[in-house]
Amino acid sequence: MSIKIHLPRSIIYLGTAAVTLILIIFLYSANRDNGSRSLQKAQRESYRLGTIVRITLYGDDSKKLNNVLDLSMKEIERLENLLSVNIPSSDVSLVNRASGEYPVKVSEEAGSLLERAIEWSERTGGAFDPTVGKIVKLWGIGTESAAVPDPEQLKEAVDMTDFRKVSVLHEVNGTFVQTAKGQRIDLGGIAKGYITEKVKALLINEGVSSALIDLGGNIAVFGSSPKPGKWKLGLQHPFMPRGEYFGIAEVSDVSVVTSGAYERYFESGGIRYHHIFDTATGYPALSDLASVTIISEDSTDADALSTALFVMGFERGISLLRELKNVEAVLVAKKTEGTIVYVTKGLSKGFLLKDPAMKKAPEVQ
Ligand code: ADP
Ligand code: MG
Repeated sequence: MSIKIHLPRSIIYLGTAAVTLILIIFLYSANRDNGSRSLQKAQRESYRLGTIVRITLYGDDSKKLNNVLDLSMKEIERLENLLSVNIPSSDVSLVNRASGEYPVKVSEEAGSLLERAIEWSERTGGAFDPTVGKIVKLWGIGTESAAVPDPEQLKEAVDMTDFRKVSVLHEVNGTFVQTAKGQRIDLGGIAKGYITEKVKALLINEGVSSALIDLGGNIAVFGSSPKPGKWKLGLQHPFMPRGEYFGIAEVSDVSVVTSGAYERYFESGGIRYHHIFDTATGYPALSDLASVTIISEDSTDADALSTALFVMGFERGISLLRELKNVEAVLVAKKTEGTIVYVTKGLSKGFLLKDPAMKKAPEVQ
């Protein structure tokens, strides 16, 4: 959730993509006569969470939909104020300022999300680690001071990156978090997924029956698509400009989250340094994957997993996927023989490869 220079658009909702034909079909179907009443579309876009947030709702009462959009944006702002490492009054910042000193009282939401992050740290052998904050800060990717850090300082930051040194305590008088001296929590790899879930819960609670939530490429859809059939989401091409997709996922009632090295980076001495770090070295992960898309019912899990699998790389990533139920993935791997796309069995029929230069491997998992 740090400031981004390269805005993430990992997933392109084809209904609003700059492909005129698709757009026309989409608009036609969004306004089609839906039984007795016409289907209304309400959309709101805003710069939040260091990215572009866009929520699209469908229903028959446009005034009501717009009110719900107001509530959704407020909910995103409320959660950003709790979870952002860049907002000094956030729960995360309070914890970071008291590292090694005392347990800090936090909201139940921040405490539980940190616990979820730690669970994924355990399951991924620390490839995903919310205590990566010192490393993230030293590189400053997405800020004006992005630079290759001093190796000594980077080594110290790697030593401080250890989720095992964090305790989340649920006491009768509230939730408390204690970190070790010098540790810095950064929930940038999971918070957008969590916020997506919270917005989804709010929408359902408000009676919305069909929606697309897009927090900078962290997508969730529920209800019926305005077009006949499932929702069609374009997956950002890892080597092409933003808005170009390599494949289409046809999904319903799930979250689709992509992580890739192309999302945020800076260049120095002809080398590109990106924003997903190998917690063992402190350097941007030298992944054999160009992008990882996770499709799962829960957006929090999908967000943590897309970041984790990118760090873990193909072999470790696939073996983790095998252990998980109801989690599908599209992995774009860089191999000597070219770019290979791996799709898990459960998704196979719901994925269409569009780039003829990429090869689809036999189904995995
Ligand atoms: P994006 O924010 O571009 O959607 P990700 O969900 O993959 O992408 O999250 C990347 C963010 O996660 C980084 O900006 C940083 O805040 C954090 N991060 C980087 N490396 C790790 C890691 N190994 N484990 C957990 N979080 C990480
Ligand atoms: Mg993530």
